[in-house]
Amino acid sequence: MAAEGYGRLEAYLRAAEELGYVAHLERALEGRPGVRDIVELYKAPLWLLGGIARAITDGITGRRVGYIVNMIMNYTNICVVGCTFCSFYRKPGAPDAYKLEAREAAGRVVDAWRRFRIRQVLFQGGVDPGIPIEYYEEAFRIIKEETRGEVAIHGLSVVELEWLARVNRMSLRELLARLIEAGLDSVPGAGAEILSDRVRKLISPIKSSADTWITTMETIMDMGIPISTTMMYGHLETLEERARHLLSLLDLQRRKKRIMSFITWNFEPGKSPLGESVPYPAGGTETLRNIAVARIVFRGEIRWIQAGWLTAGVPLGQASLEYGANDWGGTLYGEKVLPEAGVPLPTLVRGRIERLIRDAGYEPVERDNWYRPIAKAAVGA
Ligand code: SF4
Repeated sequence: MAAEGYGRLEAYLRAAEELGYVAHLERALEGRPGVRDIVELYKAPLWLLGGIARAITDGITGRRVGYIVNMIMNYTNICVVGCTFCSFYRKPGAPDAYKLEAREAAGRVVDAWRRFRIRQVLFQGGVDPGIPIEYYEEAFRIIKEETRGEVAIHGLSVVELEWLARVNRMSLRELLARLIEAGLDSVPGAGAEILSDRVRKLISPIKSSADTWITTMETIMDMGIPISTTMMYGHLETLEERARHLLSLLDLQRRKKRIMSFITWNFEPGKSPLGESVPYPAGGTETLRNIAVARIVFRGEIRWIQAGWLTAGVPLGQASLEYGANDWGGTLYGEKVLPEAGVPLPTLVRGRIERLIRDAGYEPVERDNWYRPIAKAAVGA
């Protein structure tokens, strides 16, 4: 850790001692926090969590903050899973249900590459049992061929993969082998929500159990595919369940070592059924607290933590850099999920993201799908 960061950490640890948090912090900083330690950390003063999380992050990536020029391809909003927190999906046959043809979905990605030089597409939709594996193979092949392999495909959440394997009557390994052959590069962590079966039964009863989510991700990583991880908070979960979620991801990383990043966002009630019982989104301090606690728990073991601007807004995204985030995420051209939940998304082009990061006092670094910096000469305008 850089000397200055280490010095600051010492100062915050002295403050933590006075406030009674030091034992919990020390266990976390030694890489062996228990559930109780994390629950107590969630209750610590925000300034203390932020100071420690930022000092840790300075020791990992300094003042650099990554971002990627990317787009989201929500290829269908048809879904039969029916998560109660979701405002995006439509049942098959609904008047505003849509499904793009594979060629059309791929064409929009290729077009974004031509116009904005995107480096990644987040290829994600609902679970439509009517879509065969050939759909994805065709779309992925077109994207790879027509962008000279310059667009990485970060695609298909655990639930999409599990259903796809089931309806195509193949094992997860067979399915993944074909998707990898067609161009799949990495898998997003969506669908983790909170890795607690109690919560999952309430908010996504048809999705697989927490253990199955973990074993599916293990299989994906065993096949050489890196993943991102997520946590959706601010609904029916307890602090203990958030703590167990973080510990599950830390354990997964220690065993498989292919988790690239962690992204946390608050539940947006929108018009979702869950919104009737949880009508308000969690406040901004919860976003900062979750990012800081995640950094303290993961330290450098999960190196990249995204700023929480997606649901919490751009100003809070800038603030979350002070609380341990070191990646901005992407430009997200084409995102459709959050607008459905009533969250208008600004278009953040490369220059605007760089300015936002600089204004917050950090150094923007454009990266690729694997979080590797892209040389300036290769970036262009
Ligand atoms: S979160 Fe995903 S799986 Fe759940 S209903 Fe929405 S689109 Fe379907």
